[in-house]
Amino acid sequence: MESKNLERKIWFKGGIVPIDDAKINVLSPTSQFGANVFEGLRAYWSASEKQLYVFRLSEHIDRLQNSIKMLGFEAEFTNVFLQQSVIDIIQANNFQEDLVCRQTVFLDGFGNWAATGPVEMFIAPMAKGRYYKESQGISVCISSWERINERSLSPKIKMGANYMNSRMGQLEAVRNGYESAIFLNQEGTVSEGPGSCVFIVKDGVLITPPLTASILDSITRSTIIDIASDDLGLKVIERDVEKDELYIADEVFMCGTAVEIVPVFSVDKVQVGQGVEGEITLNIKNLYLQIVRGKVKKYKKWLTPVYKE
Ligand code: PMP
Repeated sequence: MESKNLERKIWFKGGIVPIDDAKINVLSPTSQFGANVFEGLRAYWSASEKQLYVFRLSEHIDRLQNSIKMLGFEAEFTNVFLQQSVIDIIQANNFQEDLVCRQTVFLDGFGNWAATGPVEMFIAPMAKGRYYKESQGISVCISSWERINERSLSPKIKMGANYMNSRMGQLEAVRNGYESAIFLNQEGTVSEGPGSCVFIVKDGVLITPPLTASILDSITRSTIIDIASDDLGLKVIERDVEKDELYIADEVFMCGTAVEIVPVFSVDKVQVGQGVEGEITLNIKNLYLQIVRGKVKKYKKWLTPVYKE
C-alpha cells in the first residue's frame, strides 16, 4: 500500500512530483491554522468507453473560487487553469479506475492566520471505489454539536478549518456506537452531516433543508434535486426540516461526492421506514450512478473526459 502511494504523483505548486516530495512548511498558515480551501472531486471509469470522467468539474471549480474569495486568499488562478491541472495530474498517473481527488488551495509561507498569500495548490487523486456496499445503510445520531453557521464560520466556504466541527460530530457519533451524525443548526432545524447533505422522503415527496440551513452548497444535492424532478417525476421541496421529521420519514439518505448516496436506516436508534433502502432512494442512486459513468446521454454535459477522445 505504502509503496503504491510513493509511486503516486501529485500536482504540487505548479509541478507534478512524487507524493513523497510534496512537502510544506510547518509554520505555514495552512499547517498552523487550517488556512486552506478545497474540493473533493470524483472521476468514474467507463470500461466500455475506456474513458475516465470527472463529474461536474466546472461546478467544483466555481465553488473553489468562491471559497478562495470568501477567505480573502490573493490567488490568481483562472478557472481554465484550475480545471486543466486536475486533468493533467490524473493523466500523469494514468488512472483507469474510479477516483476521488482532493484539490486544495492553501496559504504557504510564514504568515499568520490573517495572511492573504502566498497562495499555493496541490491536487491529489486517489483510487477509490464506493464507500458503501450495495443496499448498505448507516445508523446516525443527532449530534449534540451545533453546525457552524454564517455568523461565525461560514459552512459555504469549503475550508479545512470547518472540518473540525465535522470532526467533533463524527467522533461523538462513533463513540456512542453510530456510524455518523446529522447536525442541527442554530435554529434547531436539520442542517447536514459531517461531510454530506441530508434528504428525507415523506409520502413520495423528496424534501431537503435549504441553502440557508447552514449547509455546504453541495453539488450532489443540487444534482439530486435536478434529476429527481426532471427524470424521476418526483416533487422536490427545499424547506426547513425538523428533527422529529427524521424519525417518522419514510426514507432518509445522505449524499456527497465521496459517499455518493447512502441510505440512513436509523436516526437516534429509531428505525427509519422499514429499516432498509427505500425505493425512492434506490431509484435516485441508480440513476445517479448511471449518470456519473456517462450512461445517460443528456447528462454527458456534466462529465469532463480525462483522456483524449
Ligand atoms: N456537506 C459537507 C460538510 C461536506 O463536506 C460535503 C462534501 N463535500 C457535502 C456536504 C457534500 O458536498 P458535495 O456534494 O459537493 O460533495
